[in-house]
Amino acid sequence: MQKILVANRGEIALRIMKSAREMGIRTVAIYSEVDRNAPHVKYADEAVLLGPPAAAESYLLGDKIIEVCKQYKVDGIHPGYGFLSESAAFAKKVEEAGLVFIGPTAESIRIMGDKLSAKEAVRQYDIPLVPGTEGAIQDVEEAKAISEEIGFPILIKASAGGGGKGMRIVEQVEDFEEQMQLAVSEATSAFGDGSVFIEKYVASPRHIEIQVLCDKHGNRVHLFERECSVQRRHQKVVEEAPSAILTPEIREQMGQTALDVAKSCGYIGAGTVEFILDEKKNFFFLEMNTRLQVEHPVTEMISGVDLVKEQIKVARGEKLSFAQDDLKIHGHSIEVRVYAENAMENFVPDIGHLKVYQRPHGTGIRVDDGFEQDMDIPIYYDPMISKLITHGKDREEARLRMIRACEDYRIVGVRTTLDFGKFVMEHPAFISGNFDTHFVKKHFEPQMLEASDEQEQEVGALVLAQLLKKHGAGSKALNTALPRGSGWKVNRTK
Ligand code: ADP
Repeated sequence: MQKILVANRGEIALRIMKSAREMGIRTVAIYSEVDRNAPHVKYADEAVLLGPPAAAESYLLGDKIIEVCKQYKVDGIHPGYGFLSESAAFAKKVEEAGLVFIGPTAESIRIMGDKLSAKEAVRQYDIPLVPGTEGAIQDVEEAKAISEEIGFPILIKASAGGGGKGMRIVEQVEDFEEQMQLAVSEATSAFGDGSVFIEKYVASPRHIEIQVLCDKHGNRVHLFERECSVQRRHQKVVEEAPSAILTPEIREQMGQTALDVAKSCGYIGAGTVEFILDEKKNFFFLEMNTRLQVEHPVTEMISGVDLVKEQIKVARGEKLSFAQDDLKIHGHSIEVRVYAENAMENFVPDIGHLKVYQRPHGTGIRVDDGFEQDMDIPIYYDPMISKLITHGKDREEARLRMIRACEDYRIVGVRTTLDFGKFVMEHPAFISGNFDTHFVKKHFEPQMLEASDEQEQEVGALVLAQLLKKHGAGSKALNTALPRGSGWKVNRTK
């Protein structure tokens, strides 16, 4: 493979290109009009404009992307995550065009892309599943009866679901019909497929997933777990590896189960098998994500394996260069997703202009990002600015390093989840490891950030007064240092 096209943008496009470059592979970027000056465009060896900003007119134009590949004599396409990464139809077209899709086969994507067909595929492997209906619900009365058998609360889920959409908790039988209608219409509008099914609602679940890697020669390894229980809107915001609560025995069982899930769909490449773990540490298969995950860096930090390089090697037909016994957990790693979101307003996106953007540095800190100072965060895409990742010899070192990194990271112009990340790191429940997917609901009140904001503003105002005295009012440097709203951080002025 001499040249690959990265069918993505932002931090993940850059991250993929860096590994490719280390392997001596040339890269082609694609971009939309709004991403003309984006770092991933500048970093690539060649770059091609696809069209207007809307994803449907640029990053989702599969046929056009394949045309670009032919024109630029590209050998393989890396889809990253999101966009076309889980489109079986795209993977198939790529294969048919004689190009290498750096990922699993179209058939594996198809099977795992639908939660019901995934459950069907793993059935022969004795994989623990959350109690629920085997297929889509057809009859409301029958579904009610099943729900009562399982026991409320139950969860209605969209088979084609993703990103937490089309999921409804039903507390009691009286609410069933209404919630089901809402779930069906949400699933139809979001995925064009209204199939829904029932699962028991696990009351205090932890989200734990296993990274797997499989070559084309039947070799499969797992690279341990990632704990992703700190979520908002059923979506991850803080992840870590390893989990604070898994015993080596459960890890081994989950790892083997994940490999069986991979086997059940003939999986090739890097994939993630998601589980929920109940209070008694019973685990149940949720779904498999057939691509690189946002949170893959924490696995790279503890395993020393570059997952993108491995994806490319597998796609080239190479055998895995290590066996399960060669893999060990080294220390601990935590990731905070830095979103342009306002945690005080229920995490609504807060896109805008990055007036000041300075990354934290130092031992054990990794920042995967796709922005530079003075750039705008476009409204058209996911509002993630970066992923802040720390590594330490143990969980405590990684945690303290994350607090320091959140403080050193300087972003002015938009609200971010950095404050929230620091709040999580300092919370007794996170410190103890005793938390579940309800962390935000149970422990977080927006005023908690407000309080720390106010304190910082107060001290900030004092420091500012001193600086003005020293340098004189109107100093340009001071004005640019002044954040919008309450973004002032006294530690940033040290
Ligand atoms: P999506 O594909 O939409 O992300 P998932 O099935 O991966 O949906 O679930 C997303 C999140 O929803 C999980 O991480 C967990 O927090 C919650 N969840 C899913 N299934 C259950 C369940 N049966 N009981 C309790 N929580 C669940």
